[in-house]
Amino acid sequence: MTELDIKTLQALDAAHHLHPFNDNAALAKKGTRILTRGEGCYVWDALGNKLLDAFAGLWCVNVGYGRKELGAVAAKQMTELAYYNSFFQCTTGPTVRLAAKLAELTPGDLNHAFFTNSGSEANDTILRMVRHFWAVQDQPQKKIVIGRHNGYHGSTVAGASLGGMKGMHAQGGLPIPDIVHIDPPFWFADGGDLSPEEYGLVAARRLEAKILELGPDKVAAFIGEPIMGAIGVYIPPHSYWPEIERICRKYDVLLIADEVICGFGRTGEWFAGQYFGFQADIMPIAKGLSSGYIPIGAVMFNDRVAKVLAEQGGELAHGYTYSGHPVCAAVALENIRILEDEKIVERCKTDTGPYLAKRWQELADHPLVGESRIAGMVGALELVPKKSERKFFDERGKVGVMCRDFALKRGLILRATYDSMLLSPPLIISFDQIDELADKTRGALDDTAKELGML
Ligand SMILES: *Cc1c(COP(=O)(O)O)cnc(C)c1O
Repeated sequence: MTELDIKTLQALDAAHHLHPFNDNAALAKKGTRILTRGEGCYVWDALGNKLLDAFAGLWCVNVGYGRKELGAVAAKQMTELAYYNSFFQCTTGPTVRLAAKLAELTPGDLNHAFFTNSGSEANDTILRMVRHFWAVQDQPQKKIVIGRHNGYHGSTVAGASLGGMKGMHAQGGLPIPDIVHIDPPFWFADGGDLSPEEYGLVAARRLEAKILELGPDKVAAFIGEPIMGAIGVYIPPHSYWPEIERICRKYDVLLIADEVICGFGRTGEWFAGQYFGFQADIMPIAKGLSSGYIPIGAVMFNDRVAKVLAEQGGELAHGYTYSGHPVCAAVALENIRILEDEKIVERCKTDTGPYLAKRWQELADHPLVGESRIAGMVGALELVPKKSERKFFDERGKVGVMCRDFALKRGLILRATYDSMLLSPPLIISFDQIDELADKTRGALDDTAKELGML
């Protein structure tokens, strides 16, 4: 693209396009970066800069950019049957085959798929279905869902309400009623003198306290991301999730594991429930399901919930025009085939993943880094003013943005949430690219430290 093309697009963008999660006035002044091409772990912007994408788009491009197989499958399905719905006692081949494949891949008896277009819609679906589940079993009062402060479950009304982002709640009068939040497990800021494993139990028991406070007969479900992504990749201690599961079973509270980021290999297992050793009753998935090539999400229900919904639930008064869209389903199936045939999840667990973890953990020696955390191929660096103290910068987020911008200058895309530098590369990243990623990250940390007068 010429400079003029870019300027023209930026002007049109500023005039006509509202960007999600952006200060749109500031962005309009600055001008958007326009991306033009992707191949493997790299994207190119309109100026021709080649950027290593350490964030896989938005946690989603698990198989990497530029996979021709996915385009070919989409084109074939569009030509054969571009669309049909699953409403009128109908469906299509790819839709059914994907449901069956997901039943096979997901752990335990999560054997029933309801299709959506996104993770947010999956969580909207869940909120209605868990309340319906209890209502048709003569427990209409069992309708409160417990989430976590700073959790992220999408941006629709139910998704943002289940999530615990204050800034999102402030826009549009959220959360909607009968959704409450407990504190998240974040040992770095909150663990005090406890060991991570001790702290994991303490953090999980906040759920028990909340259930007892509300009354178990009022609590329909608990929802959590196995690893909290958007807030800064909070990886809970291994004691946390099994204890959450124990508590949910004890009080007959449905356990919803939001695997939208973790699913499809991110932790080195197909799903993070397998990584942490717990079994969900309901599991929303999206992102890695299609590696971001096309919008599709789903809710996986276990046998118990699906049976009640089917046999006692009456007609399901819920659905989307594009639920189980055949083109999206065909692409998701092909994406799963690639993950399986190329053993990408296994590589993340036993080959490239451990090397990435090693290189990422080495960055903990940097004077700016208070903690380096990683599970499989999702991680973060916590930037701090004083290495010896587990404390944040007074003005949170300034240094993170600085570091992100320095990384970009070096040709590396990292995301910053406050002062956590987030890592979530395509799962196909090679050893050489991991070296490039780690070296450029260290360079960006050095640039930042120099700017702050720390080096
Ligand atoms: C991204 C995300 C969502 C929302 O998915 P969308 O496809 O953006 O609607 C939900 N839950 C988690 C954990 C996510 O990271």
